[in-house]
Amino acid sequence: MKIKFCGAAQTVTGSAHLLTLDNGFKILLDCGLYQGNSKEMKDFNEKFLFSPDEVDAVVLSHAHIDHAGRLPKLVKDGFNGRIYSTHATRDLSAIMLMDSAHIQERDAYYYNKNRKKGKPKKEALYAPEDVSKTLEEFVCCGYNRWLKINEECEVMFRDAGHILGSSNVTFKIKKDNYHDTYFGFTGDIGRPERPILRNPRQMPDCDYIICESTYGSKLHNSAPEDEERLLEVIQKACIEKKGKLIIPAFSVGRTQEIVHMLDRLETAGKLPKIPAFVDSPLAIDATDIFRAHPDCFDAETVRYMVTDPNPFGFKNLHYVRDLDGSKRLNSYKDPCIVISASGMMSAGRVKHHIFHAIEDPKNTLLIVGYCAPNTLGGRLRQRPETVKIFGEKKEVNFEIVMMDSFSAHGDQKEMIDFLDNQNRKKLKKIFLVHGDIERQEVVKEKLLEKDFRSVEIPALGESFKL
Ligand SMILES: [Zn+2]
Repeated sequence: MKIKFCGAAQTVTGSAHLLTLDNGFKILLDCGLYQGNSKEMKDFNEKFLFSPDEVDAVVLSHAHIDHAGRLPKLVKDGFNGRIYSTHATRDLSAIMLMDSAHIQERDAYYYNKNRKKGKPKKEALYAPEDVSKTLEEFVCCGYNRWLKINEECEVMFRDAGHILGSSNVTFKIKKDNYHDTYFGFTGDIGRPERPILRNPRQMPDCDYIICESTYGSKLHNSAPEDEERLLEVIQKACIEKKGKLIIPAFSVGRTQEIVHMLDRLETAGKLPKIPAFVDSPLAIDATDIFRAHPDCFDAETVRYMVTDPNPFGFKNLHYVRDLDGSKRLNSYKDPCIVISASGMMSAGRVKHHIFHAIEDPKNTLLIVGYCAPNTLGGRLRQRPETVKIFGEKKEVNFEIVMMDSFSAHGDQKEMIDFLDNQNRKKLKKIFLVHGDIERQEVVKEKLLEKDFRSVEIPALGESFKL
């Protein structure tokens, strides 16, 4: 058996690992898009480190674009096998990959329009037609059961508690008549006690594990803050200051968590009677998929649905799909809550909302997620005096509030807790992926301290015989 690291090796996006069984069957674990801007990775999304037509099957841990975003490119380049995932991962992939195809086409269009003379034309990485073909290949399976994907190999998904449908993956691979090899892939490790989703469920005892390490060197996650803190922010922003509260949020996951918190506050009679708007077409589609998957909810949310069958909707909540509605919101002057994407404020409708609200001290910006330093969100986290938006210099007069407890990634303690059930005698090796090298070194030390036998930090393209 052999494993080759074809993405997310010593970096945080572009997850892709190729497992080759003794009988030659090739399984690709995830097929993510690289989303950074490092020079060495410039061509990563264009070229696979293997032939797509030689891959027999893909197993997908979850629908985030850095794990699923190159699937249509794989199909376009000749992959002809099945893609295994949970039901919710398939459904979220449908809207997220379609959205990604639109972004690819739009980016290529603007690049070509503004391209300097003599520079070659850029082609979109894939088109909506490739996404459609990709979705035909999915074979879905519920959590906690073995599914045969080859004469010698079965796969099981367990809940990762990271986003809707997210999973860690265990392979049971026939070694001889009496023994099996267990190969685990953590996907992205979620966090316990988060709204809507169940806690992460540990993997069975494995011989080898590929483990993510995004936040493995940090203990930054404060305990999840409850609705009460959100209510305080709303009270101050919309009732005391009579202003607009803008909440930039990723369309999938964060938006539904915030909406569900508001829903609970409303059911409890605590939410002030002000309008709340979800202004993002992708978030609206994603919310529909959440509604279709109570099979992924924790017990508390399922119980809540007995009294409120729609956990993502209440009287004063309005979903805004059309662009005109969104534009009208820009000039809306009464106290209200606006939830809109993108989470890092680098693009999307939220950028327009910020543009119009930023100079009025009555308004408030609530930041609920990580923002890369070079994005508008990253700059606003520093509370600067001015920022440039759409090329225009704006005074930053609105109040900026941060709630950092919403992270969907486990921190160091949560990651070690997740692996702690593993039998140290059985587990031969842990491969660390999906993290920056400096952080991975810290995680490696920590795991060795915890008596794990061998920890490897593979480089991009590196292979190991198992
Ligand atoms: Zn993820």
